[in-house]
Amino acid sequence: MQKNCNRVCKASRRLIRHTVIFLSLCTQVQAAELALVIDDLGYSHERGLRAIELPGAVTLAVLPFAPHTPRLVKAAAAHSKDIIVHQPMEATPAPHVRFEQGTLTLAMRPREFTATFAAALDAIPSRVGVSNHTGSLLTEHRGPMNRLMKEIDRRGLFFLDSRTTADTVAMRVATEHGVPAITRDVFLDHVQTTEAIHAAFEKSLRIARRRGHAVVIGHPHSVTLDYLEYRLKRLPADVKLVTAAELSQRNSLRTNPPTVLAQPSGLTSLRISPGQ
Ligand SMILES: [Zn+2]
Repeated sequence: MQKNCNRVCKASRRLIRHTVIFLSLCTQVQAAELALVIDDLGYSHERGLRAIELPGAVTLAVLPFAPHTPRLVKAAAAHSKDIIVHQPMEATPAPHVRFEQGTLTLAMRPREFTATFAAALDAIPSRVGVSNHTGSLLTEHRGPMNRLMKEIDRRGLFFLDSRTTADTVAMRVATEHGVPAITRDVFLDHVQTTEAIHAAFEKSLRIARRRGHAVVIGHPHSVTLDYLEYRLKRLPADVKLVTAAELSQRNSLRTNPPTVLAQPSGLTSLRISPGQ
């Protein structure tokens, strides 16, 4: 009798434990994931600090050679915020586009291209990934994207395509190199009014709920920071803020599921992603 009871109790406990794990997995799957990235940091120390102090898993895209970059990188580390190198890339000529120091161009020879990119990566040793600043011309070309992804892969980083042109090939080339990558869904502050920013933020939530994840990019404008300081403390319960790095890793696992490779010794090893 006692034996039977023990067996039943054990089975019930196991069932409860499995149900709890299953339910927690369901909750994780159902939470809509939102990656919020603040671009173009490095020119204003004050607004850079406001971006760093935003609550939660906000990712900071820092221009490698901007005047306040070294101080902001230190402050970001103190706030445990992820930093990515916001790599300037050549844009289709337009009067409003400023030519940033360290811009990668189509005319660069491979050695100069790689050295320029390496200098940007070395300027921010704590970076976990790379995104493109401008680049409407460069990201349409496979040659430079191949060189870029090769270096990103070698350093074990991820890539965020800011999607400054509809004809970008960056995501495709990143995937070919096994680089974890994500692409921007929404620009938060194309129009710099609270109403327009709110509408863009709501749009990113709708995409995240429908697809499971979304990437929204904002800039350190005062109106954007005012909105996010208020809004991020009031996120809906079904939306979870995640870093761009987390989302890119998960995206990489979705498009490139882990495979178990047979080893000559007969042992097996799990290959998580080609970039690791
Ligand atoms: Zn930018």
